[in-house]
Amino acid sequence: MSATKDQREHPPSSRDLRIFLEEKHEEGKRGEKQMKGEEILSDLSEEIVVDMDNWNKDNPGATFLEIEEKARDVVSKLEVALIQKSALEREEDSWAEQEEEERPTCPNCKEPLVSRGKRVRSLQGAQGREIKLKRIYGTCSNCGTSFFPPG
Ligand SMILES: [Zn+2]
Repeated sequence: MSATKDQREHPPSSRDLRIFLEEKHEEGKRGEKQMKGEEILSDLSEEIVVDMDNWNKDNPGATFLEIEEKARDVVSKLEVALIQKSALEREEDSWAEQEEEERPTCPNCKEPLVSRGKRVRSLQGAQGREIKLKRIYGTCSNCGTSFFPPG
């Protein structure tokens, strides 16, 4: 079977698309956590496009500045989701299980911190949006100071 004949039997565009999707599927198998994050992001991307479209329909007389503000607000949702997703992927590298010398230390006494489990840490993202991260909260066994180590 020659390549030319093959292309005649299957429309090239849909065949290429199918191959492309299969490759994407293979990539997704790497990690369930990663795939879930990507699904959330693609859902959210669609959602923000729909949100922007609806807003455009509802605000036909919007000025360029208003459009810019709306777009920035809408994109900031995606930004927050991206930050949260990236942070989630890094959680496996958390220090709770590490040897003492690899753990973060207390800035006052340089003692290795003791993990107090994960707590939600809120940070402020773009447009004042709240970014919620689950971070290990640590306590210094020497002076008793508790905080979220950087990272
Ligand atoms: Zn201390």
